[in-house]
Amino acid sequence: MFIEAIHGAAQMGLSESTYRPRPSMAGPERCLRQLVYKGLHVEGTPFGARLAMVLEDGSAHEQVSIDVLKHTLLQIHSEQRPINLNQALPWRSECPSYTCSVCPPNNGQPRIIPATTLHGHLDYLGRDLFEQDHLGEHKGVVSHIFKRYWEGDKEPLDYFTQVVFYFRGLHEEGIPIDDGGLLIKNKDTSAYLEFELRYNYDLDQLSVPVITYAPGLEQRMVNKTYIGLYAQAIDKFRLADQHIAARTLPARLDNDDDIRCVYCPYQEPCWEGYEPPVLTGELLLPEPLIPLASELFTLEEELKPKKQRQEQLKTTLIKELTVLKANHALAPNLEVTITQSSQERVDQDRLPKGLKKAYSKTIPTLKLTVKRPKPPKAQKTGRRRPPTAQPTIPSCTHQSAA
Ligand code: SF4
Repeated sequence: MFIEAIHGAAQMGLSESTYRPRPSMAGPERCLRQLVYKGLHVEGTPFGARLAMVLEDGSAHEQVSIDVLKHTLLQIHSEQRPINLNQALPWRSECPSYTCSVCPPNNGQPRIIPATTLHGHLDYLGRDLFEQDHLGEHKGVVSHIFKRYWEGDKEPLDYFTQVVFYFRGLHEEGIPIDDGGLLIKNKDTSAYLEFELRYNYDLDQLSVPVITYAPGLEQRMVNKTYIGLYAQAIDKFRLADQHIAARTLPARLDNDDDIRCVYCPYQEPCWEGYEPPVLTGELLLPEPLIPLASELFTLEEELKPKKQRQEQLKTTLIKELTVLKANHALAPNLEVTITQSSQERVDQDRLPKGLKKAYSKTIPTLKLTVKRPKPPKAQKTGRRRPPTAQPTIPSCTHQSAA
């Protein structure tokens, strides 16, 4: 009774918005082809009930964080403040202007945005006790993504790019805010990460000095700098518009198992009938690829013995510590830890053959090897055999007389 009602209601009023460049779709991870599909008005999979609830959840998580922040000494203000980057998209001068559905009307009139303006809305600004304002952006993610961000295994590049647009918008309005925080909430556990951010407008340079994890306020120094996120995003929007105008599609992502494809509304038209190209050609390696292949060759040569040794060392240490029944051992400047866990694996041999077949999928794979070419076969230099005596053909003159 409730389940149908909740999912039905979540979907109400949700529809695909028309394509226009927005800060939230500007990042380097965003699939260019997806932007083009949207710009070409290709029909994608409609919003499902689950996705509708994910979006609702996202807004609720953000609101809870902001409400709690309002109980701190920070003064939270300017929620959903509009940002305008005028003339950021000059090639769109012939496109019609549009009405922003988020901006409140101005003197009873809807807010009209010129097509050449990159328009968006920042999440909030936080004013500290020294009357300094800082930019705040909030995101909610699931546990495994959260963990990867914290461990440095993944970087939120699209979120960084989005924040860069807001820094620039504030700067162009004459509001001197050049630092802030990207707050990422774990939607499963309510833990938080904060990426500290600093932005240099003139250099288009975003710096991330540190990430903080809460609870515990543990910090990890990052000291990373990203140059040109804004410029790259504008180039990407330009390229998307060129494809839209020419009605051409840019390349797909590398494979349809990519998480971006799994959740993409255009997955069906995009991958339908796709056959991976058959690679049969033989050529001289193009000049720019030679140093890459050469580096890979050297790297693999160096790593091969090291990997073998790594495995040997691990096996020996695990064996010895197991005999000592220890999972944690200290030495000067060293800490050796064995983490015990269990993994659930499907026992392939016990699966009925029919079931295995029904749930198996052939996935094309590519394997690359780099090796030294075999030296050309050496010419045999052995001593020449003396020519064998040729049978003597009797000459006519020697023919026996009849
Ligand atoms: S299915 Fe994948 S490659 Fe195709 S448009 Fe979507 S994200 Fe891009």
